[in-house]
Amino acid sequence: MSNIVTRFPPSPTGYLHVGGARTALFNWLYARHMKGRFILRIEDTDTKRSTQASVDAIFEALEWLGIDWDDGPYFQSKRFDIYQTYIQALLDSGHAYYCICSQEKIDAMRKEALAAGGKPKYDGTCRGKGFAKTANAVIRFKAPITGSTTVKDIIKGNIVFQNSEQDDFIICRSDGTPTYNFVVVVDDITMGINTVIRGDDHLNNTPRQIMLYNALKSPLPAFGHVPMVLGKDRTRLSKRHGATSVTAYKDMGYLPDALINYLVRLGWSHGDQEFFSRDELIEKFTLENIGKSPGIFDQEKLLALNADHIKAASPGNLSTHLLPFLKERGCLAEKGNFLDSVIRTLNTRSKTLIDMADGALFYYTKSVSYEEKAAQKHLKPVCLSALQLLIDQLESLDIFSEKALENIFKRVMDNTGLKLGKIAQPVRVALTGKTVSPGIFEIIEVLGKKQVILRLQNAVQFIKDRKD
Ligand code: GLU
Repeated sequence: MSNIVTRFPPSPTGYLHVGGARTALFNWLYARHMKGRFILRIEDTDTKRSTQASVDAIFEALEWLGIDWDDGPYFQSKRFDIYQTYIQALLDSGHAYYCICSQEKIDAMRKEALAAGGKPKYDGTCRGKGFAKTANAVIRFKAPITGSTTVKDIIKGNIVFQNSEQDDFIICRSDGTPTYNFVVVVDDITMGINTVIRGDDHLNNTPRQIMLYNALKSPLPAFGHVPMVLGKDRTRLSKRHGATSVTAYKDMGYLPDALINYLVRLGWSHGDQEFFSRDELIEKFTLENIGKSPGIFDQEKLLALNADHIKAASPGNLSTHLLPFLKERGCLAEKGNFLDSVIRTLNTRSKTLIDMADGALFYYTKSVSYEEKAAQKHLKPVCLSALQLLIDQLESLDIFSEKALENIFKRVMDNTGLKLGKIAQPVRVALTGKTVSPGIFEIIEVLGKKQVILRLQNAVQFIKDRKD
């Protein structure tokens, strides 16, 4: 056990998007790699935009990804007493003060600064005045005016911010609610967080947060700001680029291990290795190898990686993820040997679990429905004798090994003078209803003698009925 403590603090104002999931993963993997702790905190102080539905969606996504936490979930909305204590401490130590400037005055300040080409800043009117609390007063942090604040970033190196660029920012609004930068710092201090990995869209908040740490006499955590995830056009990833929510990938038939692998590789590397199992990521993940340039989210690459993970996964593990897709399609499959063998015939030919579920349905159907074109082209009187012969041969065969099946097909070819393709395609259509499927011998082995013979007999009947 090390003393590393990381956190993931999503704001529940929407679903968990892939960029947020990557941040969660970096923190989770680092904690797991270092045998430290990982904390989940829900940043729900913005009561207007935070919803329970978003909280639920975030939990669902994290659970599906297999990101577990050691502590929490904490909810900021339930921690107002703690924030109050820290606000009072800053007031008492002279690091914060009541500001009674009216909104009009603040607006005028803002306009003036903008007109002068500067950043809108509070001009410190109430600083040092010792005003007492009034109904409309806010509490401001007395920020250092001179000097600079350096963010020692693990990923980007040292970044120096001039303190003259900052102002006495608000830490508590007039309605008593604390502000974002303040609560993050109080939470990170009280939760013992010592490593903060987050998106670089938060970099500008960091000097303010560092000032608060200093005023509260707390040691700084290590900060690492990760470049954003971009779309292929190099703009920030958004809905325009396609699906961005984690659960959308679940619904599209991706394996959590594939999405994890892809997201981590979008911003972290280990040589030129692309495929990582979850355990390998935990073993190899370090902060030094997080890259400085933004990751480009490429759905085609993710799809290819998903196919690789489907290939590599055990049938038992795949069946857990596949079953909901089969159920959705009205298929009453169950975990067990039969499903495992079905999966073994499909795992090298499925890019997603949707492909796999669609491909598995014929194994479970009570009566095969033939695709119109497939039946027209392949279920014809010319193959009747071959199908009949095959039925007879199979009936006398007890063990459906590949070798035995090959021999039987050879015998049918010899007897009918038909080429393998002219026999295999009708058999395929008879067994699956389609012209594309796993290998014919594999299918026969999985379906078993009774089903195969039944399906072949049905096809023979179908051809005879059509002939009449
Ligand atoms: N709640 C913030 C967000 O969802 C994260 C803040 C942080 O990591 O410090 O972007």
